[in-house]
Amino acid sequence: MSDDHVVGINPQFTRPGETHAIDRFRMPLDEMLPETAYQVVHDEVMLDGNARLNLATFVGTWMDDHATRLYTEAFDKNMVDKDEYPHTAAVEDRCWKMLADLWHAPDPTGTIGTSTVGSSEACMLAGLALKRRWQHARRAAGKPTDRPNLVMSSAVQVVWEKFANYWDVEARYVPISEEHKTLDGHDLASHVDENTIGVVAILGVTYTGMYEPVAHICAALDDIRRTVGLDIPVHVDGASGAMIAPFLQPDLVWDFRLPRVHSINTSGHKYGLVYPGLGWVVWRSKDVLPEDLIFRVGYLGGDMPTLALNFSRPGAQVLLQYYQFLRLGRSGFHAVQKAAQDVARHLASGIDALDAFDLWNDGTDIPVFAWRLKADHTDNWTLYDLSDRLRMKGWQVPAYRMPDDLADVTVQRVVVRNGLSMDIARDLLDDIRTETEYLDRLTGPMPTTRHPSGFHH
Ligand SMILES: *Cc1c(COP(=O)(O)O)cnc(C)c1O
Repeated sequence: MSDDHVVGINPQFTRPGETHAIDRFRMPLDEMLPETAYQVVHDEVMLDGNARLNLATFVGTWMDDHATRLYTEAFDKNMVDKDEYPHTAAVEDRCWKMLADLWHAPDPTGTIGTSTVGSSEACMLAGLALKRRWQHARRAAGKPTDRPNLVMSSAVQVVWEKFANYWDVEARYVPISEEHKTLDGHDLASHVDENTIGVVAILGVTYTGMYEPVAHICAALDDIRRTVGLDIPVHVDGASGAMIAPFLQPDLVWDFRLPRVHSINTSGHKYGLVYPGLGWVVWRSKDVLPEDLIFRVGYLGGDMPTLALNFSRPGAQVLLQYYQFLRLGRSGFHAVQKAAQDVARHLASGIDALDAFDLWNDGTDIPVFAWRLKADHTDNWTLYDLSDRLRMKGWQVPAYRMPDDLADVTVQRVVVRNGLSMDIARDLLDDIRTETEYLDRLTGPMPTTRHPSGFHH
């Protein structure tokens, strides 16, 4: 075995007769003691980053001890076995009905929804429903169905590119710009046509955390309906914002209060405050979800509609979501999200106060914000260098390029999650200040390195 193929085992953990090294990429021929195998896996992942210092991810990294207890009691439950675990299935039902209510569905009990493995699966299902609905209408009108398109901002999360690619739908991107930092209804008419299956509005753009003004987008589509006759539905990608807006901006009208909004998704594992592996999608009423996408399974002697891309998947996260809904209630969710927003605003104003930076946004939508270097500040260093310096101290604060039409703009972003306390934020701000001063003392440019081109969070 060459060195880079070997995982060495600490002699302290190997038992007589056990191997001292294993091949990284081939299954060992022999068994080893569970203690040894445990130690190998445990040590392997110990070198992963510290989740609490990861300010790049939106995904939950902390739950309380009761949640952990529930998790360990329930990790064997398979969500798809609705027959075997009818009560877990019933809890799933309650959760999306609560969400339908939270998002102001006209009749929350007359809606339909499902849990998923994350927003990605939820978006795929919502996109499929838009596509199928459009196909039915086109066929009924004797028109061709071979060229569907979906209209969205150039700053969509990668799932929408995947959806378009996997399901043969043309992705029509409306470019964002300095004047139109999000999809805001501007110029929508030149992007839609009779083949448009829907428009995606993002509540909490992944790049920056900004809300797209869903009501404006719907108003622009109302105009298009009046002038051109096209009646185009909206899906709201609320992966993060759909669990923030109901608590922090209750008066913002972005949800099923807008009749054009057919469906909404969110990530239970983002601001739904559950560990990774949970998303939700809800339709405003049963009639906007084409019946032929629904499968029926036996359930408590009756039958239960299911709609999913996955078959088997963990049921425990669904129970954890229900736990959070019960434990926190609306006021608890408000308190947790407000604390995160306070931290985000504090950090944003601290960074804004430094000479080097301009804020792109200030964390008042979801508790996420981005900033850039002032145009004339320096030629010696970039935000990638600041990101590297912060990494040395354990912080993960990514820098990246904005999407295509703004690709010359580099920003750095902080995602504030439950668990990033004001104390940790003060330390972070100190380190940002110190490292910025360090970089400003450079007497020549940093060596250029290749920066990751894509954006993956
Ligand atoms: C995170 C995110 C997704 C993907 O969600 P997952 O739960 O990670 O699958 C989709 N859209 C937006 C806007 C997101 O922020």
